Amino acid sequence: MTRTPARLQERVRKGAPRLTQVTRYEVYTARQLDRIAPLARLPEETRFAIRVVAQVLPFRVNRYVVEELIDWSRVPEDPVFRLVFPQREMLSEADFERMAGVLRAGADARRVREVADEIRAGLNPHPAGQMALNVPLLDGTPLPGMQHKYRETVLFFPSQGQVCHSYCTFCFRWAQFVGDKALRFATHEAEHLHAYLAAHPEVTDLLVTGGDPMVMKTKHLAAYLEPFLSRPELARVQTIRIGTKSLSFWPQRYVLDEDADDLLRLLERLVAAGRHVAVMAHFNHWRELETPIVREAVRRIRDTGAVIRAQAPLLRHINDDPGVWARLWQEQVRLGIVPYYLFVERDTGARRYFEVPLARAWAIYREAVQRVSGLARTVRGPSMSAAPGKVEIQGVTRIGEEDVFVLRFIQARNPDWVQRPFFARFDPEATWLDQLEPALGEKKFFFEDAFAALQAARTAG
Ligand SMILES: *Cc1c(COP(=O)(O)O)cnc(C)c1O
Ligand code: SF4
Repeated sequence: MTRTPARLQERVRKGAPRLTQVTRYEVYTARQLDRIAPLARLPEETRFAIRVVAQVLPFRVNRYVVEELIDWSRVPEDPVFRLVFPQREMLSEADFERMAGVLRAGADARRVREVADEIRAGLNPHPAGQMALNVPLLDGTPLPGMQHKYRETVLFFPSQGQVCHSYCTFCFRWAQFVGDKALRFATHEAEHLHAYLAAHPEVTDLLVTGGDPMVMKTKHLAAYLEPFLSRPELARVQTIRIGTKSLSFWPQRYVLDEDADDLLRLLERLVAAGRHVAVMAHFNHWRELETPIVREAVRRIRDTGAVIRAQAPLLRHINDDPGVWARLWQEQVRLGIVPYYLFVERDTGARRYFEVPLARAWAIYREAVQRVSGLARTVRGPSMSAAPGKVEIQGVTRIGEEDVFVLRFIQARNPDWVQRPFFARFDPEATWLDQLEPALGEKKFFFEDAFAALQAARTAG
């Protein structure tokens, strides 16, 4: 059983143990940069750059991140600072100068938004065909709050969960945070979710995602998840995953929030009903696991019988270092978290700032994995979430006279593609699948024709 929040809050009030300084939720957006006290100590030029980029990329940060995760004595190198505060180099020089000019000229909000939208349009707001290819149909009607790409797993984007406790500067879902409603996957329709799952017995996994579903009140989350406790037609959904960065950005959610205990009991009931409940946590750096409150949150979640699995992209300037990953995975294993995925930074948004060549990503992964025991080697990657599927770089090797990448699908639109090794010509600069060419004299990758046919069928339908 978990402790009641009242008792825990009492313990925190008495200071034993002191879990956190920040007990009240307070967020700052681009309009409230002046209220973030430590920013005032940075050079004017840095603050202006933050303001310029924050007009284009989503910006939001809460007090816990500012006061307990960022080490301001190490700014601007601090990894969590770069994770949430926009940096000048995240835009091209031309885009940066354009927005800087607009702000310097004191343009009105409408003009700023216009220019921001034009810059955003050039940043590939919807990578990997998410809109066109993944939205499922129920009786012929598209369900925009869901994605069904891989046979076993349906992604659900509850409308109340389409924000986050803070925004990551690298986020591939950034387009949905900047007010473009047309790009937003969201729905109020729990019934659609349940009806779709009932009609699709091949689906064993539900992945509730966002934004961050853990920004929702427990009662809203319960409206989506409680039917899994009682409805026989949903019994085939064995696994309920919740994708969240809240352990990192607001661990108070599981410890001090008013409905923290209700949330834990909801997880507990799903586990008791025989479900595998997985909190798919997102950690980019071991620093996010250092505070007493995140450790308490992890302990409380594990107490419910839910499993915590961890995933994150490899990002230049933040975690492009095998030492950082090895320490992150070791820390996760120590706390009972299962390392799951290491992703390649996607081809969207501020990729220019974060991207790492695939060859280097693989070298970092390999070196990090070599440093940890088998319990941390559950992590797969580096993996690219591309339109045909999740493609993992398994290695770089030489076959005959040719240097090649060895690749495989971890997940694919067609399950038959999974686990077939395939090869691409080695390219030290390539950062994404679309820059790779087939190796060993092949004209196409083995899946290309079948993928084109799938796409054509979907667009025609
Ligand atoms: C990664 C992903 C999943 C889950 O895949 P697993 O291999 O089961 O973790 C499901 N849907 C989409 C669209 C994904 O990108
Ligand atoms: S928490 Fe996740 S969805 Fe939210 S901004 Fe960060 S990466 Fe994006």
